[in-house]
Amino acid sequence: MKTGIHPEYYETSIKCACGNVIEVGSTKEDIRVEICSKCHPFFTGKQKLIDTEGRIERFRKKYEKFNNQK
Ligand SMILES: [Zn+2]
Repeated sequence: MKTGIHPEYYETSIKCACGNVIEVGSTKEDIRVEICSKCHPFFTGKQKLIDTEGRIERFRKKYEKFNNQK
């Protein structure tokens, strides 16, 4: 690695809103995220289920209106 051509490289941590901390190497000193692999719905599956129920509920309400209009 040649010196002088690379930006400063820090040992840093990404802090997530859920409290999870991921140790990484980065050019940024402090990284904060609102979602990470530990709390992302795709990985947990929990939020996904809640969201799906909400969508079904919305669809039902829409469908009720549609039936009433007839
Ligand atoms: Zn998280």
